[in-house]
Amino acid sequence: MDKNFNTVWQNCLQVIRDNITFQAYKTWFGPIKPVKLENNVLTIQVPSQFFYEWIEENYIHLLRKTIKKELGKEGQLEYSIIMSNKDKFAINLPTTNKKATKNPSKTMPLNLNKEKSKDFPNPFIIPGLKKIKVNSQLNENYSFDNFVEGDCNRLARSAGFAVSQNPGKTSFNPLFLYSNNGLGKTHLSQAIGLEVKTNFPDKTVLYVRAEQFTNQFIDSVKNNSTNDFMHFYQMIDVLIIDDIHILANKEKTQDIFFHIFNHLHQNGKQLIVTSDKPPVELQGIKPRLLSRFKWGLAADLQTPDLETRIAILRKKLYKDGLNMPEEVIEYIAYSITSNVRELEGALVSILAQSSLNKKAITLDLARQMIDKYVKNTSREISIDYIQKVVSDYFNIPVDTINSKTRKREIVQARQIAMYFSKKFTKSSLATIGIHCGNKDHATVLHACRTINNLIDTDKQFRVYVDDIEKKIKI
Ligand code: ADP
Ligand code: MG
Repeated sequence: MDKNFNTVWQNCLQVIRDNITFQAYKTWFGPIKPVKLENNVLTIQVPSQFFYEWIEENYIHLLRKTIKKELGKEGQLEYSIIMSNKDKFAINLPTTNKKATKNPSKTMPLNLNKEKSKDFPNPFIIPGLKKIKVNSQLNENYSFDNFVEGDCNRLARSAGFAVSQNPGKTSFNPLFLYSNNGLGKTHLSQAIGLEVKTNFPDKTVLYVRAEQFTNQFIDSVKNNSTNDFMHFYQMIDVLIIDDIHILANKEKTQDIFFHIFNHLHQNGKQLIVTSDKPPVELQGIKPRLLSRFKWGLAADLQTPDLETRIAILRKKLYKDGLNMPEEVIEYIAYSITSNVRELEGALVSILAQSSLNKKAITLDLARQMIDKYVKNTSREISIDYIQKVVSDYFNIPVDTINSKTRKREIVQARQIAMYFSKKFTKSSLATIGIHCGNKDHATVLHACRTINNLIDTDKQFRVYVDDIEKKIKI
């Protein structure tokens, strides 16, 4: 005969309580209710899918052990998940047996731990207000008005604008913006946030750099306030996460972000994510998160053409109420081509020089400044140059490196050249492949992964790679 489900669950809880922190116990096991025990299958009810996933990921070993202890080898666990009508995700197959019971009438809010821990160090919450008000961390300068439109950014900009008129309701969710450095990801993502706040003053918008998010999460783990951390993020209407590539290989942070992402997306909230690479090229990010990034729209920001660069410079001068001869503006726009941040940097240093030394802004002054500027900041490293360095280092001719041979040392030299080309040039995987023996982009991607793995696992190999890197940078 089956034992009583309540007794079995109580016995399990006793063991669990002794094995995890009180806070975790209260948070994750307090809200669980045993439902029934039939044929050695204990069914427990959890308040949401999120809860179920969290338990499966973090406590399954412990749970499995205690269940087996109580019910013997054949003992199994089944979850009954209370779902709202909006829940629309497939649930991953669990390690144990599970059945999801739809029960829309009894949806429980996610607010499990009513007592907020007092010391949750949350920099985004403005204290002293009755209703929680979130500091959105938006910079007023990064508006749509100040963002110059060009062929290089048209798709990203118009998708961003559409999102800001209708957050969570367009098919651009998440909106995934990617580009090399200094091409406007932060600016555009913030513009969306600002525009939402203008259009929908009641919506809670939050801009956060992925690095900040990581640090906050780590702090919350230290302070036992992960639950609060999560609740905070789950109440945001428009969440902007900048530079998501920073989460590479940070598995726990990716996990928590995954749960927050799911919760927000399920509830029709808007996510905007920026990255230095498109989802397919992101390394060290778990596939389940990458697949989420592909749900919405991925749009890139490319290097602006000459006209757009001129327009950006003009806009900046106009905004600051400054003047500059047309020929100087054009000269700057001609000279600095690949990065808007550097373009602005050059403009600012010319303005600074002229006002410090009380010199007029002339073409000559611009030439002097730009020469220095370009020399200091952006010596271009080319694929050819990288191949030459690798070839010298291993004493293998460049032609051999690029040949079809599959000899191990040569394949490895080729892969190292590909790896550094990805790291130090702005070329796409496809372009790198063509330069390195007419290979396709998948081969280059594979090479980058292989080299990254070897760097992590093989000390001697790492020394080679570091040596070559130093030679490339000289
Ligand atoms: P990223 O986040 O891609 O590294 P940012 O958004 O920080 O780049 O942009 C770098 C600088 O260039 C910022 O000062 C930004 O205002 C400016 N900028 C980039 N794109 C544009 C644009 N289309 N119009 C006006 N300013 C731009
Ligand atoms: Mg940025």
